[in-house]
Amino acid sequence: MKPYLLIVEDEAALVELLRYNFEKEGFRVTSAADGEAALVAVAEAKPDLVVLDWMLPHVSGLEVARQLRRKSETRDIPIIMLTARGEETDRIRGLEVGADDYVAKPFSPSELVARVRAVLRRSKPSTAQDLLTFGDLVMDLSAHRVLRSGRPIHLGPTEFRLLRFLLERPGRVYSREQLLDAVWGRDIYVEPRTVDVHIRRLRKAINSPGDSDLIRTVRSAGYALDENVDA
Ligand code: CA
Repeated sequence: MKPYLLIVEDEAALVELLRYNFEKEGFRVTSAADGEAALVAVAEAKPDLVVLDWMLPHVSGLEVARQLRRKSETRDIPIIMLTARGEETDRIRGLEVGADDYVAKPFSPSELVARVRAVLRRSKPSTAQDLLTFGDLVMDLSAHRVLRSGRPIHLGPTEFRLLRFLLERPGRVYSREQLLDAVWGRDIYVEPRTVDVHIRRLRKAINSPGDSDLIRTVRSAGYALDENVDA
């Protein structure tokens, strides 16, 4: 099956350039010229990935990303944001609302194709899998068990849900608010700092002395399951 891509961009010439390149690379492509059309297109047929321009008329790309992440049916669609802004704070804002990657304009179509392929490779199918793995960490959902290098790990229910959520999208950075929504639910009020407490417990449980820390803290943004570079 050809991967199905939704390109959300109001610049018609750029859309046509991207459509040409992605179709040549074996993608099925649909486009939307504004945020509302994008949400309609997603509701009609769920894309495998959305390429989303930041600057759109009416509803901004950031708001579209936020809306996609809010609903359980669209939460797992990978998003790559396009933007003319090269600012680090904008990149972090994009990642905060749940974009999987970020490509600054101007870019070459082949660069975007490569990034799309990388994100698709990384993103797991949304169907429930019994085994979630990351490095030497294994979560067996049917047995409700977690192992690191074969060593059993005991987690509280919240840490279990938190780890499961992170394991489903390794490498992606989540803000405390996103983790609260996903793990605790939107209906209860919990202090964002509570997330830090549970992340600390989770870290303590999964990392033995000598193990690499699998949870990355992204300053002012949040947390990700990642091979640690600068913990
Ligand atoms: Ca635009």
